[in-house]
Amino acid sequence: MQTAAGALLARAIGVAMAAPKTPGPDYSAVLAKGVRGAVAKAVPALDGERLDGLMTELFGVADSAFAAVVAKDPPRRTIACKAGCAYCCHLYVQVTPLEAIHLARALRARGAEALAAVQERVAAAHRKTAGKDAEYRNLLAEPCPLLQDGQCSVYAERPFACRGANSADADACRRGMGRSSSVPLPTFVHQRNVYAAVENGAAHGLLDAGARPNVLELIAALHLALAHEDPLRAWQSGELDFEPARCREAGKRV
Ligand code: SF4
Repeated sequence: MQTAAGALLARAIGVAMAAPKTPGPDYSAVLAKGVRGAVAKAVPALDGERLDGLMTELFGVADSAFAAVVAKDPPRRTIACKAGCAYCCHLYVQVTPLEAIHLARALRARGAEALAAVQERVAAAHRKTAGKDAEYRNLLAEPCPLLQDGQCSVYAERPFACRGANSADADACRRGMGRSSSVPLPTFVHQRNVYAAVENGAAHGLLDAGARPNVLELIAALHLALAHEDPLRAWQSGELDFEPARCREAGKRV
């Protein structure tokens, strides 16, 4: 049986494929709208299993929509991103509560020892980054606490923002680290657009379901979520309040 998210995928791909040579101009809006509806409907009835299923489906929706768009309009330049290249893992990352809770659940499932280690890394990073904006974070260049040996330790569960980040010039990424003024990056805009559309759809679906704040800063959100044995239940009951992790950049971008 096709789920709500599966149905929106079919529609998004249909829009993306509508034009003969290029993706349909409004594929981002269609994708975001479909995700918004699916998330708003799913949130009131979430339990842990359903949350993990929803996230898997949303990641799949985004990946499939991206593949459909790439088939129509491939990148002009080779994307330089590869395992071990992690300049973008030193920047400000925004997430929805769904992503933060899903990540916290995945990290908890790795056992007590691994959990204690990641809690320590997150707490240390949080002490340096709490309340800081994206510009300060560019200068600080603090590595994400989920980055281990130059690789993302939660790659399959990584946030939409991380999935959309890309560059055709790793040297430009390197030169941009730790600077106050931004270095222009040649990026593949469809990759950014597709994953941002799914993230924005999820964020607005959360608002429709009454969840606030709906966009958070990753490290602060993880710091809060990892303190709870069952972060989903704690969030649903109000015991886990993401307000201190509210993304101050969201109003500028979302
Ligand atoms: S979650 Fe993974 S991909 Fe995203 S910033 Fe952290 S280490 Fe990098």
